[in-house]
Amino acid sequence: MAFHDIIQQLEFFHDIGIDSVRITSEQSAAPNVAASMQSAAVESAETLDAIRADIGDCQRCKLAPTRTTIVFGSGNPNADIVFVGEAPGYEEDQQGLPFVGEAGRLLTKIIESIGITREDAYICNILKCRPPNNRNPEPDEVLVCSPFLKRQIAVIGPKIVCCLGKFAAQTMLQSGAPISRLRGEFHDVDGMRVIATFHPAYLLRSPEKKREVWEDMKQIRAELFRLRS
Ligand code: URA
Repeated sequence: MAFHDIIQQLEFFHDIGIDSVRITSEQSAAPNVAASMQSAAVESAETLDAIRADIGDCQRCKLAPTRTTIVFGSGNPNADIVFVGEAPGYEEDQQGLPFVGEAGRLLTKIIESIGITREDAYICNILKCRPPNNRNPEPDEVLVCSPFLKRQIAVIGPKIVCCLGKFAAQTMLQSGAPISRLRGEFHDVDGMRVIATFHPAYLLRSPEKKREVWEDMKQIRAELFRLRS
């Protein structure tokens, strides 16, 4: 891990109120585990490129006229962990990449806090187009767009899916329960371990919730370690 990455990680720990860090054998092994992550995905004829091609210049829902760019997803196509957010914001819509704005910078720190990098993971959203003025996703949009996410996840074949916020959690877990109830524990969905936590944009508004996200991230780190052992 580069010096800059260590500083970022320590900054996140400081943000969540942790001022000293004890290195255990499990923690020190985590970066190596991440580095050796390889796909255990079920063989599938489908590819991420084929899904992207299928999306094309999508006009399937009412977000098409106002978006600039379709934000498909980015990261390791063989990732052991996929992070699923809500929908692109302004920066993402401009750049065509998920989580590149302020919430994205916090997500990078959160990911690095468990000893993996953004590039080790795969990051995508429930919706591939930005809702006007960053409004919430609407049910018809989720209905039309989420099958592409499900195909992406099936191709990647991750061991763990981490849902960021209410919309990702409710869609992935097919539940109407609030995020405060859905977060904090693993759920088994289609052979994957699915966990939900608070959305990084919510953490920017409510930094006191970072503690709970850190609890969720520790569970993810331990589960990744267990599944790789
Ligand atoms: N918020 C999200 O949910 N997704 C992004 O890609 C950026 C911000």
